[in-house]
Order: sequence, then C-alpha cells, then structure tokens
Amino acid sequence: MLYKCSIPMLIGLILLANCTKTPLVAIGSQTGNSARAEASSQPLAPVQVPTDPQPADISPTEPAKYVFFTFDDGPNSHYTGIILDILKKYGVKASFCVIGNNIEKNPEVLKRIVNEGHGVVNHTYSHDYDKIYASPGAFLEDLQKCNQAIASLTGKNVRVYRAPGGDPKLNKETYALLSKKGYISLGWNVTSGDTDPNGATPEQVYGNVANGVVKMEKMNKAPIILMHDGTEINLSLSSPGTATLNYIKNRESDVAALPKIIEFLQAKGYTFAVVDEKTPPAW
Ligand SMILES: [Zn+2]
Repeated sequence: MLYKCSIPMLIGLILLANCTKTPLVAIGSQTGNSARAEASSQPLAPVQVPTDPQPADISPTEPAKYVFFTFDDGPNSHYTGIILDILKKYGVKASFCVIGNNIEKNPEVLKRIVNEGHGVVNHTYSHDYDKIYASPGAFLEDLQKCNQAIASLTGKNVRVYRAPGGDPKLNKETYALLSKKGYISLGWNVTSGDTDPNGATPEQVYGNVANGVVKMEKMNKAPIILMHDGTEINLSLSSPGTATLNYIKNRESDVAALPKIIEFLQAKGYTFAVVDEKTPPAW
C-alpha cells in the first residue's frame, strides 16, 4: 500500500521523518513483476525463486509442444465413435490409421473422422501380413487400394502411411519403392500396450502412455502415441479366455483411459496436432 504525503504534510515531512517509513511495495506475489519494478531504492527483501519449474509456468514465448495421437486398425463400428465422442468433448484432434477393408464396412465412420477435423493415415487395404509383405509391389498395390477407398469417400489423397507391425517389417526395397512413389512412413514412439494378449487394464494403458510421454520429453521429441480403435471383430467368438475377448478388453481399457490421458497431456501444455506430410519422424 502506498501512503502519499499531502502539501500541508510536506512541512511536517521535514520534522516527521517517519512519513515514508511505510513499505511501498508488497513483495511475494508470483505476478508482482510490475510492482517490483516500482520499488523504492531501498533494498528489497530477497525473493524466493522456485528452482523446480512448474509445467503450468510455460512462457508464452516458448515454442508449442506437439503431441500426435494415432489410432490404428479402424474405422470400427463401435469403438471409433466412442473415441470420437471423447475427443470432441475435450476439443482435441487425433489421427486415424485406417484399413481399407474396414472403410468398406464403415464408410460413415471415416466421413465422421474427416468432418470432425481429424487426420487420416493409410494403414493398407487388407492388413494381411502374408499378402502385403510378399513383395514390394504387393505392398504398394495394397496401399494404393486403400488410398482409393479413402479418396472415393473423402476426396483426400493421403500420402502418409503406417506399415502394419511398424517400419521394421518393411525391407529396404519396399521402403525405397514407397518413397519413390511419394509415400511417407509414420512410426510411433509411445505405445499404450493396448495389444496385450492378456488384455491391458485402463491403469496399464494410462501408465504406458504417461511414462512414454515423459521419456520423449527428456529426449526432446514430439510424442507420437500408438493406440487402437480396432478392426471389426466377431463377437460370437468372444467366450471367456479367447483372444477376441482380450481384444475387446483392450479396447474397453483404451476408452476408459483416454479421458485421463488427454487431461495428462493438456496439463503438460501439449497441442494435439494432426498427422500430415510434415509430421516429424518418430525416431
Ligand atoms: Zn495395424
């Protein structure tokens, strides 16, 4: 608080040396920089500077932190819609690595993905390892077939692809052929573990993602998170102990963990970016 001296008081000022002895500036507020700048010439009490920077204290001049959320193997008639609802609720974007076969089954879901501003990545037409990894030409043909399925519904010519099983599945010849044709590979550097054959819990899915993101932060890399919205499944096969049932358990864990994962990333100040040709490589 500032005490001003009135003119009559100026006379008394000479006599009353205690007129200015009241402190002029309150120190201690985290947002009190301007107040500090107005401080009198009297030495200030030492201000405690936190040694441990808090995530919420990101300077506006700091470059944006990007995270890329990717969901593989859809569009799925059940889980993709649930995931889209969650993303919409939080106002964040993701990218969907779609399979041509599933586009034929769920064309409206792909349209919804695009209409709501999410990214689309080519994840081959068949996702059949025996077929696509038979030769470089076989992979290219399958990829192009998926591209046609995407383009016929959305008008998009998607150049980014994700190889089923990841880049290591591609031999040099296939990779070179795809690059020559203008296709760009998308990997990942954070996995949710949602393909656990025993079925992951929501806590495990969240923990895997959170730990992976922290690891990428230490490496100064933009996290590219791998999750699955999943392919179509035959529910009649989902008796206890079957792989199908654990597959469903994984998808349920994904949707249960997703809000917490989004909140974790938002608290860390991430911007949710959509995958495109300029997305930085995962590694
Ligand atoms: Zn896949």
